[in-house]
Amino acid sequence: MNTPESTTPAGYRAGHVAVVGRPNVGKSTLINALVGFRVSIVSRRPQTTRHRILGISTLEGGQIAYVDTPGLHGKQPRAINRYMNRAARGALADVQIGVLVIEAGQWREDDQRAFDVLVEAGVPRVLVINKVDKLKEKGALLPFIQKVVEGRDFIEVVPLSAQKRSGLDTLQKVLLKHLPESEPLFEEDQVTDRSERFMCAELIREQLMRRLGDELPYASSVEIEQWEEDGKMARIHAVVWVERDGQKAIVIGAGGEQLRQIGMDARLGMERLLQRKVFLQVWCKVREGWSDDEKSLKSFGYTD
Ligand code: GDP
Ligand code: MG
Repeated sequence: MNTPESTTPAGYRAGHVAVVGRPNVGKSTLINALVGFRVSIVSRRPQTTRHRILGISTLEGGQIAYVDTPGLHGKQPRAINRYMNRAARGALADVQIGVLVIEAGQWREDDQRAFDVLVEAGVPRVLVINKVDKLKEKGALLPFIQKVVEGRDFIEVVPLSAQKRSGLDTLQKVLLKHLPESEPLFEEDQVTDRSERFMCAELIREQLMRRLGDELPYASSVEIEQWEEDGKMARIHAVVWVERDGQKAIVIGAGGEQLRQIGMDARLGMERLLQRKVFLQVWCKVREGWSDDEKSLKSFGYTD
C-alpha cells in the first residue's frame, strides 16, 4: 500500500539535537546557517511540545530539529530558576545528541559547565569548534582539539566557521549519522498562526539580545498582544515585559531610540519571514515580580 508513511525513504533519519554553549560562541549564527528560514516555521506535533524548537533542517537523508536548553542560559534566581531547572532536564530528556559549541582556542569555566550538563543528562556529545576563521595560526587547531578532548568524551569533533559557512555539511552528515532511523518528525511548509507568532516574538527577543546583551534583564519576556491581518499587511502589537522601571529605561533607551531600532530591525525580519508588509508596534511595560510567580510564568508560555 502506498500510504504517506511508506514514502519515507529507507535509511531516513530524524531526531532532536540540543545546541548548548556559553553566550557568544556563535550558537545563533550556526543555527541560522543550518536552518532554512521557511522550514523553520513548522507546526509541532504533540510529542515534541516539551522542546523549544530553534529550527528544523530538512535534508535529503533526514531531518534535524535543533532545540534550545533554557536552563543553560545565565543565572536565574527564584521561581524562574525552578522552572529553568525543570526545563533543562525536560529539554535534554529525549534529545539524541548534544552539540556543545565552543570558540576555537578557548575553553572556559562556562564551557565546562555546559559540557557537565550534557554528561549529567547522559546525552552523546558532538563538539563543535566554531570561529576557526579567527585562528591566526591554523596549526594551533589540532593541539587545541587534543587538549579539549583529553579526558572528555565526545562522539565527534567538528571544527567549522558558522559565519563563513564552512564545515556545515560535515556537521550535518555527522549529526544524521548518529540519529535514529525514523519517519520525519515535522511536516514541511505547514505554517500555523501559533508558530508565526512565536517566531515573530523570537525576532524581537533576538534584537533585544543583540542590542542589550548582558544589560538585558533576565526577567524579560516578549508577548505578541495583537495580530491583525489588514489586506496585504500584518499589524502586530508586541510588548516587552520587564520587572522594574529601571529595566524599562534600558530597553527604551535615550529618547526611545533603542526600542525604535529594535522594532525596526525586528520588523525587517518579520517581513522576510511572513513575506508581506508588517506594521509593528513594540511597547515596553513593567509587570512587577512576574518572574516570582509561577502562574504568570505560565501565561507567558513558560510551561513544561
Ligand atoms: P550565541 O550567543 O552563542 O548565540 O552567539 P552569536 O551567534 O550571537 O554570535 C556571537 C558573535 O560571534 C557574533 O558577533 C557573530 O557574528 C560572531 N560569530 C559567530 N560565528 C562566527 C564565526 O564562525 N567566525 C567569526 N569570526 N565570528 C563568528
Ligand atoms: Mg544566541
